[in-house]
Amino acid sequence: MTTQTVDQQKLREALDGARRVHQEATESGSKLDITRGKPCAAQLDLSESMLDILKAGDHRTEAEGDLRNYSPTTGLVELREIFAPLLDVPVDQLVVRDNSSLALMHQCLAASFFHAPPGGEGTWLGQTVRFLAPVPGYDRHFTVASELGVELVPVPMTDEGPDMDVVERLVAEDATIKGIWCVPKYSNPTGVTYSSQTVRRLAEMSTAAPDFRIYWDNAYAIHHLRDTEAHLDSILDACAAAGHPDRAFVFASTSKVTFAGAGISFFAASPANVQWYVERDGFRSIGPNKLSQLQHLRFFRTTEGVVAHMQRHREILEPKFDAVLRQLEEDLGGLGIASWTDPAGGYFVSLDVLPGTAARVVALAKEAGVALTPAGATFPYGKDPEDQNIRIAPSMPTTDELDRAMRVLTACVVLAAAEKLGVAS
Ligand code: PMP
Repeated sequence: MTTQTVDQQKLREALDGARRVHQEATESGSKLDITRGKPCAAQLDLSESMLDILKAGDHRTEAEGDLRNYSPTTGLVELREIFAPLLDVPVDQLVVRDNSSLALMHQCLAASFFHAPPGGEGTWLGQTVRFLAPVPGYDRHFTVASELGVELVPVPMTDEGPDMDVVERLVAEDATIKGIWCVPKYSNPTGVTYSSQTVRRLAEMSTAAPDFRIYWDNAYAIHHLRDTEAHLDSILDACAAAGHPDRAFVFASTSKVTFAGAGISFFAASPANVQWYVERDGFRSIGPNKLSQLQHLRFFRTTEGVVAHMQRHREILEPKFDAVLRQLEEDLGGLGIASWTDPAGGYFVSLDVLPGTAARVVALAKEAGVALTPAGATFPYGKDPEDQNIRIAPSMPTTDELDRAMRVLTACVVLAAAEKLGVAS
C-alpha cells in the first residue's frame, strides 16, 4: 500500500475517536509492548520436547563420535543435511555454530579487520570501512557495524530489494565500501523478498573493493505466513555463476525455529570463505556445543520435520499478523496518512506514517502505555530522514493484547497527523 493524498475530512471525523482511545489507554495505566520480534511462549512450547530428547547414553553420532568432548567440527553432518536444502546451500559449504547468527556476523566483520577475507589485499585495520545499509533495515546490523567502527551508507529499499541502480553506482566507484547488509527473504522490517534480478545484479556488479562481501542474513528463510511462499534465488549459485564465488557470506539460525536463546546458527559460503571462517573460528573456540546440535538433529530428524514445525509456528503467528492488518485497515484505511506492508513471511509489519510524525506517534503511544520500537531504529544511527517508519512486531503479545495495542497505535497515528496538518475536529 502506498501513501495516498490525505483525506482531511475523514481525518477530522477520526479525531474524536482517536482522542478517546488515547485518553482511556492513558488513564487505564495498562502496559503493552510491540517492540521486539521475539517468539511468544506458545511458539517456544512447540520445541519444549527438545529439552528432554537426549537421554543419558545418547551422545554419539556415527560420523562425529563422542559429542561430549572437545573437538572442532563444521557441524554434525546429518544436521547439515537437514538444513542445507532449506537454506539452498551445498551441505559441504554449510557450517553449524552455537546460538546467534548475529554473533557470527559480528565475528566475520571483526575478523576481517585482522585477516582480510579471500580476495582482499592486506588487512582492513586503519582503513575507512563502509557498508551499504538498505533502509528501512534491521537495527542490530547497524549497531554491529557501529560497534566495530564500520560506517553505514543508507540505500533505499524497493519492492524487489535494495535499489540496485544506487548500489551498483556506489560499489563501483568507492573501494571503502566493503559490503552490504541484506535480509533477502521476508526482510526485516519490510517483508520484501529480493527478486531474481536483484540477486543476479548483486552477484554480477563490479565492485571497487576486491574483497567486497554481501552479508546475506537469511534469518527468515523458512518463516512463511501465507500459502504462497516467496521464492529466493541462491546467492551462492548466482555469485559462482557471475565469476565472484567468494562474494557472499550466508547467515541463518533457528532462533525463531526452536529457542531464541538456545538454538543453532549457520554460516555458508564458498569453499575458500568457509576455510577462512573456520580457521579464524578455530582460534576463538575448540568447538561448538555439539550436544545442542544433537538435540536439534533428534528433534527434527528430517528436512520435512523442520517444514512441519514451521507450519505450526505459522498457525500461531498468522492470526496475529491478520489482527494487526485488520486494525490498520479499519482505523487508517482511506485516511491517506499511512501505508503499511502485508508480508508473506517473517516477523514484522512496516508502517509508514505521515512524514515528520513517527517520533511523535511513538511518544504519544508511550504516554498511553504502548511501547513501540523507537522511531528511526530501522535506519543507521537511528535517524530516519523522513521521520516516518515504525516497525510493528506482532509475535510476542496475545491477539487480545495486540488488538488493544494496535487500537492505541492507530489512534496515535491519527492524532500526530492531525497535529502536523493543523486539523481540528
Ligand atoms: N537477523 C535478523 C534479520 C533478525 O531479525 C534477527 C532477530 N531479530 C537476527 C538476525 C538475530 O538472529 P540470532 O538470534 O540468530 O542472532
